[in-house]
Order: sequence, then structure tokens, then C-alpha cells
Amino acid sequence: MCAELRKDIISGGWIITNTKGKEEFFKSLEPGVRVKEKPCPFCSGNEKETPKEIYALRKPGTLPDQPGWSVRVFPSKEKALEIEKELERRGVGIYDVMNNVGAHELIIESPEHIKNLSDLPEEQIKKALLVYQKRIIDLKKDKRFRYAIVFKNQRPSSPFRLGHTHSQLVALPLTPESVKGELENAKSYYGEKERCVFCDVVREELEAGLRIVKENKSFLSYVPFAPRLPFETWILPKRHNADFTQEDDSTLFDFAAIMKVTLSKICKLLEDPPLNYMIHSIPYMRPKVGYWKTIHKDYHWHLEILPHIVKVEGFSWSSGFYIEPLSSEIMAELLRETKL
Ligand SMILES: [Zn+2]
Ligand SMILES: [Zn+2]
Ligand SMILES: [Zn+2]
Repeated sequence: MCAELRKDIISGGWIITNTKGKEEFFKSLEPGVRVKEKPCPFCSGNEKETPKEIYALRKPGTLPDQPGWSVRVFPSKEKALEIEKELERRGVGIYDVMNNVGAHELIIESPEHIKNLSDLPEEQIKKALLVYQKRIIDLKKDKRFRYAIVFKNQRPSSPFRLGHTHSQLVALPLTPESVKGELENAKSYYGEKERCVFCDVVREELEAGLRIVKENKSFLSYVPFAPRLPFETWILPKRHNADFTQEDDSTLFDFAAIMKVTLSKICKLLEDPPLNYMIHSIPYMRPKVGYWKTIHKDYHWHLEILPHIVKVEGFSWSSGFYIEPLSSEIMAELLRETKL
């Protein structure tokens, strides 16, 4: 078994394939395989149950892989991406293939067994965000990588889930198609109007006031004008900045505060739904001389939160048109009025 990255020649998107053996795959489909591990390997005191730590925020004088940390990072056990490999590109007939080079890290956001990030104090969320920044910056040194993405899969409590708050960081030898679409759109908007499209959205949303969920000194959280999923919510920094890793301490605190309120509202209104969130920031900008000329002016980092409360139906899959049962304005109003 040897995993690899394959490019779809029609859409231009890349996939990772062949990450599991046949037996392992069918076993992973069986219910109960993910039975809650005991003791929880993510809890402080159980560091020996995980791969060796890559990085941790810890009390002075405490040792790696020992208690004393507040946020801890170690490599994922999944072997979809492997950091030890050389980057090789090759053709198979008319198709493009790359080997599955990449970093896949787990960021444990609390030493205590707490399920949702939004249940942590703001100061602790800020520490997790600081570690997101540090890991993205550190992986930039590796010349094989072109993009790093931090994301979270939050699932409802169940005996089959670990239920300990964590996020994942993946560094890839290419920029994901979804981000590329945004980058290109932002670049051409800037080319036409000499304004950042995200800054225009911030201005418009603050002025209209119809889709705002929450606002603080540095951030705006809102339901997009044309969301893909019900209660999809974005958080944008009000001040223009393309690069998430450049935000300072006090801005990170404001980000932690608005994340806590926004996620808590979604959680309360929709009764702890499964959700994803992801941070989109600038790529590592390796290839293509001249290509990134305006990126610091045209792109604007942000967080996208995607609750999964409805099944995406055939029409959406086939046409790319999502159907929203409620308007953005009503969804934002419901979230705004959700008392915590
Ligand atoms: Zn735990
Ligand atoms: Zn901007
Ligand atoms: Zn985005």
C-alpha cells in the first residue's frame, strides 16, 4: 500500500488516494471501531499514549511528553500524508501524480477533557490560536510545502468519539482548489477595482447590519449573503490583513472572544450540531514569479464555520447550487438573538 496524490484532469482538483489497506478500510466502516479510548490519550497525564510531541506551550521547567502543557501538538497517526518522503512529481499516462508528502498534526486545545472549544475561557482559546500561528510559521521553513490549513471537525458527543477539543493542521505541497478559487477571485476583483473584496464585504455588512451575528473591536462575525450551508458563519478581521500569522496578541484575544461567542450561539441554537471550521490565510507563495504581486493587498484571512445540519441533496451535488431553507438575514437574526 502506497498512498499518493492524484490530480483530476477534468476539474483540476487533487485527491489523496490509497491511504488504507482493504481490510483496514472495511474495518473502519464498522460501528464501534472508534469506541472511546480509555484513558483519553489527549488528556494531560496520558502523553505516553500519543506520538511524541512536536511543540507545546508549557510551564517553565516541565519536560516534553509530560504534564505541564496548556496546548500540545503531535503528528496524527493517520498515514494519509507523510512528512519523511521526498516530493516527487510524475506522469501516469496522461495523468499527474505526486507522492503523499505533507504534514498532518493534531493540536490539543486543552489539557482537560473538554469537548467544545467554545467552552474554554477566552485566554485558553487565544493560546490555541497562538499555537496555530506558530505551527504554520514553522512549517513554512519546509520548502516542499505551499499551503498550510488549520481546521476543526467537531462532532456531537457519542460513546464512539473521543470528545476532547482539538484541531488539525495539514501542510500540503500544493494549494487546495477551494482556496485557489478564492485567491483568484480576490485577485481579479482587486485588479478591476483596486480594493480588497473582503474589506468591501466588511464595510457592506457593517453598513447593512442585516447579517451580523456579533461584532467586536477587531472582528465581524456574519452569515454570508449567499451561504452554502444553513447557518454558515464567517469571521473577518475588520482591519485588512492577508496573513493570519501576522496578527498580534491583542488581536488574537479579540479573535478568541468572537469565536467563543459565535460558536456558542451556533451550538446553543442548533443543539450542538456537527461542524467544521477552517482558517484561510495566504499561501507560502513559492512558485510563479510575479503571480503573487498584489496578494498582500487583495487577499484577507478569515475563518469559515460550517455547521452540518442538513444533507446536501442531489441537486446541489449535481449543479453546485445550494438551496437554503432560510434567508441569511433570518439565520443571522436567530443567531444574534440566541442568548448565552
Ligand atoms: Zn481527554
Ligand atoms: Zn481586506
Ligand atoms: Zn475562505
